[in-house]
Amino acid sequence: MTTTPVALTLNAGSSSLKFGLFDISGAPAVMAVGQIDSIGKAPRLKASFGPGRSPVSRDLTPAEAADHKSALATALAVLREAFPRAKASAVGHRVVHGGPSYDRPMVLTPEVMEELRRLSPFAPIHQPHNLAGIDAAVEAFPEALQVACFDTAFHRTHPKVNDVFALPREYYDKGVRRYGFHGLSYDYISGELKRIAPLIHEGRVIVAHLGNGASMCGMIGGRSVASTMGFTALDGLPMGTRTGQIDPGVIFYMVQQEGMSIDEVRQLFYSKSGLLGLSGLSNDMRALEAAGTVEANEAIDYFVFRIRRELGGLAAALGGLDALVFCGGIGENSRLIRERVCEGMGWIGLELDRERNGRNDTVISTDMSRARVMVVPTNEELVIARAAKDFLDTRG
Ligand code: AMP
Repeated sequence: MTTTPVALTLNAGSSSLKFGLFDISGAPAVMAVGQIDSIGKAPRLKASFGPGRSPVSRDLTPAEAADHKSALATALAVLREAFPRAKASAVGHRVVHGGPSYDRPMVLTPEVMEELRRLSPFAPIHQPHNLAGIDAAVEAFPEALQVACFDTAFHRTHPKVNDVFALPREYYDKGVRRYGFHGLSYDYISGELKRIAPLIHEGRVIVAHLGNGASMCGMIGGRSVASTMGFTALDGLPMGTRTGQIDPGVIFYMVQQEGMSIDEVRQLFYSKSGLLGLSGLSNDMRALEAAGTVEANEAIDYFVFRIRRELGGLAAALGGLDALVFCGGIGENSRLIRERVCEGMGWIGLELDRERNGRNDTVISTDMSRARVMVVPTNEELVIARAAKDFLDTRG
């Protein structure tokens, strides 16, 4: 049996399970990362194990990932084959909702689990899957320390004015608040800025997490002041299949005039809208950039337009701007989107260097630009592994 302590990280989505294995003998170092998609439908596995080892990419049988429990068993079998002697002493979980009170990772005790179950109605599409992943991991690793890391926690520093909706006060007390999400990603970026650009970290920074899910966060001194997502991960920017900000009156119209049920409206807003809905083609930015159809271009135009609007709004909330940081699959890879977001933004102090942008450099603004523009690859799994290690260390 190996003596190297390892941590397993799990990120259970509605039909996917992302997993990572980290050596935590020192600063967490990744040993393996992988993902099972289309759980319960036509499941597929992808995993990579670092230099010198072949990655795995194959279709699974329905039984290998019929639900989150069997998907976890399959993921563990793959990890065991690659690292037969590794035994997780901690399991870190991404949990979408930590409610108003959890502003940092928590060890999963029965009391914390009860509170997280109570929060399920706030994130009915994600939280139950996160909790199913935790239950499966507790069964698989009864002796391991189980740690939850919340997407909402990073934003608990929001000032009250940015935490409320203009609803009667009783609903705030019941938890109807602007929580904000993608917190693990923002936490990672904040830490990276502190390491690679400490002066920028101290200043006014807007981070654009642009992936299949997309949001932006305004930070001062590395702490969240405002974000584009609110009560749910539906608000703010348009996403792969989600609407982003929409007049709530549209919901009344859909129900009263289109005869839709609330579940149908939810399905429409979460799964059929955004880039997919506008383009009629795909939720995938690469496919839209390649397509060149009128509809695909309009979808891209809308995506860029909303990012630019939020950029202005967040800069106002911060009282100015020292840096814009791109991350997420689109932010880290799409030169086109970054260029279009920054186009004509000199008034806010942004001046993009096209060559640096074309090379995907870390700093992609010109030397004369008042505010810096950066590309910083995010790493949510590492944030979870660090939290798991910290708890293990403090427990001796
Ligand atoms: P994520 O959810 O962070 O994995 O990001 C997924 C999104 O990133 C999808 O819309 C992809 O099409 C997009 N993406 C990944 N690579 C590129 C690229 N080279 N150019 C444009 N979009 C990309």
